[in-house]
Amino acid sequence: MSELESELKICGHYFLVRFIDNLMADVNSHAWGRIHIGKQIIELELNCSDSKKEETIVHETLHAIDNSLGIGLDEGQICSLANALFQLGLGEKLMSKIDIPNL
Ligand SMILES: [Zn+2]
Repeated sequence: MSELESELKICGHYFLVRFIDNLMADVNSHAWGRIHIGKQIIELELNCSDSKKEETIVHETLHAIDNSLGIGLDEGQICSLANALFQLGLGEKLMSKIDIPNL
């Protein structure tokens, strides 16, 4: 693992969490985060505020939980839940589990 990588256990499975400078969703659009469910990789934008990182890790974690449990949440539901759980402090807790120094 590089210095910008760590792991997060979600529903019993380890996901590689990787921070990337200028993360892109595709060639034309920026992304704050994205998840590769099959590869168990979560990628997050490196250059943003702590609060944005915290909300985004909650968002991507919810995608992993949704997939693992087969709930079938849509993107809007994930966004709403991520914001609510972020405001309750879940993002701060998840970032402390990722624990990359000097992030
Ligand atoms: Zn999403």
